[in-house]
Amino acid sequence: MTQPDLLRVESLEVHFPLPRPYPWVARSTVLAVDGVTLSVGEGRTLGIVGESGCGKSTLALAVLRLVEPTAGRVLFEGTDILELAPRALRPIRQKMQIIFQDPYSSLNPRSRAEQVVREPLDVQNAFSDSERRDRVDELFNLVGLRPEQKSLFPHQFSGGQRQRLGIARALALSPKLIVCDEPVSSLDVAIQAQILNLLSRLQQELGLAYLFISHDLAVIQHICDDVAVMYLGKIVERTNRNEIFRYPLHPYTQALLSAVPKREPGARKARRKDKRLKGEVPNPAAPPSGCSFHPRCMYARDRCRQEEPELSEIAPGHIVACHFATAEGIATS
Ligand code: SF4
Repeated sequence: MTQPDLLRVESLEVHFPLPRPYPWVARSTVLAVDGVTLSVGEGRTLGIVGESGCGKSTLALAVLRLVEPTAGRVLFEGTDILELAPRALRPIRQKMQIIFQDPYSSLNPRSRAEQVVREPLDVQNAFSDSERRDRVDELFNLVGLRPEQKSLFPHQFSGGQRQRLGIARALALSPKLIVCDEPVSSLDVAIQAQILNLLSRLQQELGLAYLFISHDLAVIQHICDDVAVMYLGKIVERTNRNEIFRYPLHPYTQALLSAVPKREPGARKARRKDKRLKGEVPNPAAPPSGCSFHPRCMYARDRCRQEEPELSEIAPGHIVACHFATAEGIATS
């Protein structure tokens, strides 16, 4: 029997109106998240990957209602959290936590580590004082920090240790889902691996689900079960990890993957190189017509400039938004 989704996001939109440069000029709007649908099962990890400015972090914040969506639904255990008043939202918030990209800026520099980790317990008024102290000890142990580090301030920790502190704080209220917003991108590669291994271990031990935001495909490959590729506010490809890395079907995904160094036979390597991304992500306040990837797409044709492609299932469980994607690749005739 298939498990119901822990998190289901349906047609989510986040629009930011821009200030008018002059009173007589019409106000324009950035469609930071533009009709995103996705789901995360219990104990699973969904990776969201794309370049900077594609809307990944806005999506992460909107899922937690840390920015207010413009339209759509965010169902957590079947309840649409966008419909809830703040008081009703509070108990659900305990089950949905976030780990930020920069552990240093997300930790209060004046709080000792113990206070940092304990803060969610204090805010929710959860447990007695001695139970809170025990819980902090348990969390320090869980993330690999030593008990004597509880009295230190955040600046006395290394970057990796600070991220462990952020993870301990996110775990304090025993969440079911953690939104990880680029949690290792400010760390050295060796430390990245330690934090990713910690997140994997915690997932196995605690049955956590992750919505994992990253621009780094190597990181996504390491930790995610399923992957959604985002471009200019929209999901353009979605499938499981093996499929996306072995058979990427959207030209944008192919281009992202061609930038990842791989040990492969020369012919395949040459083919990947041809697909490297050209140009920059367009201005989201003035997105291109039709398929928003067309100015950078090596396969673009007239239809791409005029008609926006819909997401459709090209192979079992493999969904792509491209007029010419087939299970064998991009149709060129
Ligand atoms: Fe490229 Fe056209 Fe497919 Fe868009 S629809 S990805 S421009 S081939």
